[in-house]
Amino acid sequence: MNAEYRGIDFEDRMSTVDFRLSERAHISVDAAVCRSCTAQVCVHACPAKLFVPTSDGGILFNYEQCFECGTCYEVCDAEGAITWTYPDGGHGVVFRQG
Ligand code: SF4
Ligand code: SF4
Repeated sequence: MNAEYRGIDFEDRMSTVDFRLSERAHISVDAAVCRSCTAQVCVHACPAKLFVPTSDGGILFNYEQCFECGTCYEVCDAEGAITWTYPDGGHGVVFRQG
């Protein structure tokens, strides 16, 4: 990706981000609910591209490198599809200065 935002290259911006992975997923996605979803708005809404459509109409989701922005939770209107909790202390996304 070579996108720029306000003159800062995407790769430069991402170089200031740490992901401290917790063994406990802070977002879980119910594949059974997603299987009956035709809109799949999460695929385009997630800035980290963590929702991937499968050839059989389902969704693959990986919580690693999640920005914790909450967009998927806001745009998905399917009851029970997304379960959200915050990461444990010391885990998740950390933005470093400089
Ligand atoms: S997370 Fe929500 S929007 Fe995305 S496929 Fe599942 S039900 Fe559809
Ligand atoms: S919280 Fe944001 S980055 Fe994380 S999975 Fe949802 S939309 Fe993607």
